[in-house]
Formats: sequence, C-alpha cells, structure tokens
Amino acid sequence: MMGQQGGEQDRLFYSFNLETHVPQDHLLRGIDRFVDLSELRDHLEPFYSHTGRPSIDPELMIRMLLVGYCFGIRAERRLCEEVHLNLAYRWFCRLGLEDTVPDHSTFSKNRHGRFRESDLFRHLFEAVVQRCMAEGLVGGEGFAIDASIIKADANRRRGVPAAQGVDWDDPKLASRAVHEYLQALDKEGEVGATPKNISLTDPAARWTAAPGCPAFFAYSANYLVDVNAGIIVDVEATSAHRTEELESTKTMIERVEQRFDLKPQRLIGDTAYGSAPMLAWLAQDKSIEPHVPVWDKATRGDGTLSRSEFAYDAVQDCYTCPAGKTLLTTGRPTADDTMLYRASVYDCQACALKPKCCPNSSARKIPRSIHEASRDIARSIANTKAYRQSRRDRKKVEVLFAHLKRVLKLDRLRLRGRSGARDEFLLAATAQNLRRMAKWLVPKPPLRDLVPT
Ligand code: SF4
Repeated sequence: MMGQQGGEQDRLFYSFNLETHVPQDHLLRGIDRFVDLSELRDHLEPFYSHTGRPSIDPELMIRMLLVGYCFGIRAERRLCEEVHLNLAYRWFCRLGLEDTVPDHSTFSKNRHGRFRESDLFRHLFEAVVQRCMAEGLVGGEGFAIDASIIKADANRRRGVPAAQGVDWDDPKLASRAVHEYLQALDKEGEVGATPKNISLTDPAARWTAAPGCPAFFAYSANYLVDVNAGIIVDVEATSAHRTEELESTKTMIERVEQRFDLKPQRLIGDTAYGSAPMLAWLAQDKSIEPHVPVWDKATRGDGTLSRSEFAYDAVQDCYTCPAGKTLLTTGRPTADDTMLYRASVYDCQACALKPKCCPNSSARKIPRSIHEASRDIARSIANTKAYRQSRRDRKKVEVLFAHLKRVLKLDRLRLRGRSGARDEFLLAATAQNLRRMAKWLVPKPPLRDLVPT
C-alpha cells in the first residue's frame, strides 16, 4: 500500500541534535579539525570599537566565508541562504537551528573594511599553511610556480582605448576600485607597456587576449606550491602581465623564507619564468636550482647559422665563428643586459659562408646575456633525471588551478580592484589547503558509522 506522509509540521518541541545529523564523512567535519580561529579575535581587536552595540561575531563570518569558498558559493546573498538551510553548514558555523544567519550586506561592509585593513585573510592563510607544515605535508625541497588568468568583474564593453586617456576626476567614475588604482599608480607607476584597453570599472585589471577567444579584463592568480603534497605555500594577485608575475615570484619566495623559514632547493616553472634575469636571481642570488626551460630565441628558423654554431671562449671572452674568425665585444652591455660580440666587416665580406651567416648585414653579431652563466646552469639541469621528475611535479599546480576554476568555481572574480582579487585568491587558496588536509589526513570512518541511525 502506498504510504502518505502526515505533513504535520506544527510541533512546538523537538529533540534535535545537529551534531548527530552531520555525516561522519562530511568534508566539513574533516576541514573543521584543521580550522583554528583562536587568534582571530586578538588579531581583529584593534579594528573594533570598545563602545556601541556588539558586532556580528567575526569568527562566524570567517566560517561562513570558508564554507562559501570550499563549496564554490561566492555570492554572499546565496551563501547566507545556503547556511540558513544546510545543517552541515550550520554545524560548521557553530550556529544552532534557531540562530539567525547574518545579512549578506554585513559581509560586504566587513570584507571591504576591517578584514582588509587588518590583512585578516593573509593571516588566516598563513595560519593554515603553518598547520599544513605541522602536519608534515610541506616538504620544503621543491616548489612549483605558475599563474592562471581569472576574469575580472569588469564588462569588456566598459573598456576604452588606453591611448585616448580617461578623466578619472569624473564623479561618474568614482568607485573603490578606481580610487585604489589611482593610489597604486601614484606609488608604483604603470608596469610594463600601456595596455590596449582600460576598464572604467576596474582599471587595475589587464586587457588580456587568450588564444582563440575574445579579449577580456583579467587578473592573474599566482601560486607557489610545495610539490610534496601540493600545498599552496603562497599566493599573490597581480594583473595579467608577465613582468608582474615574475616580480610576484620573487616576492613569494622571499616571504615564504621570511615567514616559514622555508627555502626550496629547486623551483619548477614553465618557460615564462625562464628569462635570463629571473634565472640569475634564482641561481646566483638565492642559490635555488632553476628547473625551468630557458627562454631562448637564439635558434634561427630561416636556415642561417644559429648562435649555437659559434663557440664561446669564457677565458678570452669571445666567440669563434664556423670560419674560425673571432667575434669580440666592447664589454659594455646594452639596455637589456646583453653584450654584443661582433665579427670584423673585413672578415665577413671575404667569407664564403656569409650568405648563410649574415646575408642582410655587413658583419655578424652575436648577442649574449650578462646572465648567460645562469642560463647555462638551467640548460645543464634540463638534461637531468631530477628535471624530468620536476616536469611531472609541475602538474600539481595545474591540477590546483583546474580545481580552483571547476570545483571552487573561481573562473571570474566577484570583488573588484587588486585588493578584491587578493582577498578572493587568499580565501580560495586557504580553502584548497584545508580541503587537501581533510582529504589526506582524516581517516575514513568505518562503513557502519556512515549508516544513518
Ligand atoms: S660571415 Fe663572418 S661571422 Fe659568419 S662565418 Fe663568415 S667570417 Fe664568420
């Protein structure tokens, strides 16, 4: 016989324990073991007034934000609804069945106010990294670096050609993101070449053309990852520009060394990190092995002689060409830190190899970076077994970015400005590290414990 539910929901008294209704194997139970917000109140203390009405508990807001970033619910209004309705989320946020969930507008006020002023999200991220280290998940031997482009919350139709100039004094453009951009411009100036378009809603976002799709405004999420267990040890938000991404690598390596006393023996990266100055910084300044392909444009594709066919003599500091002639340098580097080694016009004009060597100039010249010794170190590492392992290890960063976009649904930012991007990336990286600890370190409960009682 088909049963029918009574539909009586008007009981006044229930005996209900939230604890027993959250499954033992729920991801939030695992994450909860590693969330320690005991220092949060001390950290935020100077940013709260000592008088007036008590605020919403900041721990509640942080727990709600962690739920949001762990489960890809970044819209604050929806997050409040989900926490209101979901028992596991209520349990994690330490809310009882009848406790009120904060209004979504409270988040906006706190995120742009005291949380940002106190650098709370970095504090939280670093506390989680420290916990990962204490749990033995961070080896510290090899780090991998990479950046992923994330769309900014800036409509491409609200972009104007940068060359035409923008009157930022126009009151219609006044916003937090514009104010922050102008402040950064005053302090640091424009980094790299002027972009083609500039966004009127989020000018710090970079106009970016990815292959095969229309250009858009974006930021870069830069991850520094320990390859032992794929723990993110640092994260930086930059505009989607290679110069800034390289600078952020240095910032992160220095910061991780300073904060956690961690310095890797090898850094793994793709060709974008293989410029001569970057390799020199790693190999010479930091004594870190660059497991990075060398950014090299020395091989010619037009059939003429490439630089590799000229022999370099480190003692004499000169090149010898295939015809046995010497190419010398003045010893003065160019603006881009390159030394030019020139053959004599007299030698080249009389040489039978000239059509294959320098058909369009009177004599051959060979450029050599002043950091060539570091490039040679990277080239020699590229032939080792350790380097092949590093290529495999690099996939751990790619997996984290795929997870960031597909599972945490962070393929487009919700907050504007550089600080908005920084807050979002820090929270996402914190969520990824917490999820990793929960999955790796929490033993699976026996099957009988999973059956509802
Ligand atoms: S063209 Fe000049 S540099 Fe080239 S092989 Fe001949 S002598 Fe050497």
